[in-house]
Amino acid sequence: MNRLFRFWWFPLLLQVITLVVFVLLIVDGFAADTNNMAFAKILRNTNLANLIVWSYWWPVIIISAIFLGRIWCMVCPMELLTSLAARVGLKYKPNGFVRSGWIITLFYIVILFVGIHTLSIHRVPFRMSIYLLALLTSTVIVGLIFRRNTFCAYICPVGHLLGLYARLAPFGWSTGNMLICRRCKDHSCTASANAYVFQGRSCGVDLDPAHIDDNTNCLLCGQCIKSCDHNNPGIEGRPNPGWFVRPWFKDIFALKPMTAAQTVFCLVVSGFVVYELFTEWNVTKGLLLWLPDNINMLLGTENTWSHGLIKSLTLFVILPILVWLLPYGLFRSVGGKLSIEEFFSVFGIAFIPIMAAAHLVKALLKTTSRIPYWENAFTDPVGVESARGILDKSLQLAPLPAWRDPAVTVMSLVLVFCGIAVSTVVIRKLTMTQLRSPECRAWALYLIPGLYGGAFAVVICLWRLF
Ligand code: SF4
Ligand code: SF4
Repeated sequence: MNRLFRFWWFPLLLQVITLVVFVLLIVDGFAADTNNMAFAKILRNTNLANLIVWSYWWPVIIISAIFLGRIWCMVCPMELLTSLAARVGLKYKPNGFVRSGWIITLFYIVILFVGIHTLSIHRVPFRMSIYLLALLTSTVIVGLIFRRNTFCAYICPVGHLLGLYARLAPFGWSTGNMLICRRCKDHSCTASANAYVFQGRSCGVDLDPAHIDDNTNCLLCGQCIKSCDHNNPGIEGRPNPGWFVRPWFKDIFALKPMTAAQTVFCLVVSGFVVYELFTEWNVTKGLLLWLPDNINMLLGTENTWSHGLIKSLTLFVILPILVWLLPYGLFRSVGGKLSIEEFFSVFGIAFIPIMAAAHLVKALLKTTSRIPYWENAFTDPVGVESARGILDKSLQLAPLPAWRDPAVTVMSLVLVFCGIAVSTVVIRKLTMTQLRSPECRAWALYLIPGLYGGAFAVVICLWRLF
């Protein structure tokens, strides 16, 4: 990989290919529209673009972030567009609010609450295409206004998700030999003179490759390799930056606290993954949706547009806050000393391995359950005829492969128990380094892996094994 990065066409060629695919997906999505939500539930799987975006592309982005780091950013067409736009744009420096990361959190919440749970952009291909087009447009607009990769660093709605999950990955960007960087005269990898070089830019997200200590922000774009390479004044060992193997979970075990924006994001996603997995089984689906359904019934908003917003607020804000507060409240009630800000930003990282495991399980369930739809996906890429055929039973889908259920069950359990184990180690390390009160009171904090992770394990066992 590090040799590939030295070529001018890598990863540019991959970005051009993903851009072409992205445009084709938008075109295909625009061809299939419906206001009938029962029909949309089938159409979302028969429309090729919708099938790829929500059932394969999105899960693959999550899987890749957990195992490889932000490798999606390397091939992302939005990175290409925003950096091209920034070359000819106004090049404003983003202010403190933009740099705080709150726009990423808010952007994600708007997509989740309004896009998915109110407008069903994940079910109606036409609406999905509007969303993708809006994303592309905002990338270009941000590129035209702000300097360098402002969109990737501070606005992209998946930025926090990829950054936090990448802390688990066994690969990371760093430099091979610190001595070479210390002796370096040109610092091409950070020099503003190289900020807008077409291939071989200094870092667009304001990182110093010589001092990267985790995977959170690096886009794996490889520009600093090219920059270090092209400006090599003959020193052995350059290009110095590269993508290297590192111990599993190194970044999460470094216990770096989350920013306020990342913490709120993490809280919302911790509720979202519960929804994603618990709604797969009718028993837990009924239990989980009981509260938002009853709130909607009480308010008389069942069939209005605000139904989705109330459901989102209940499941992705109120319930996760209660789940997060339970270990904290118990810890304080037995005399533990820890401010609530510290608990959320520092101990909140213990939720990440379990959330990642739950996201992986959902990715497994989704990608494998959609296998039968591929049979007709290329003969009818728009998917309207296939959806009608499935509804009136003139089109029969092939059954799921026989290996699917046992394989998914085993892998789900392994993933969830790995998530619980990593989270437990994080809590152990945190209680040893962060707590001022005696460790014997820290048992309550182990409820993060025990209660939150345990809930996933119990549900998967009951659902899949009994
Ligand atoms: S990565 Fe390369 S350009 Fe950057 S400081 Fe090190 S040697 Fe210099
Ligand atoms: S450190 Fe290098 S690879 Fe990472 S984002 Fe910056 S330029 Fe790209």
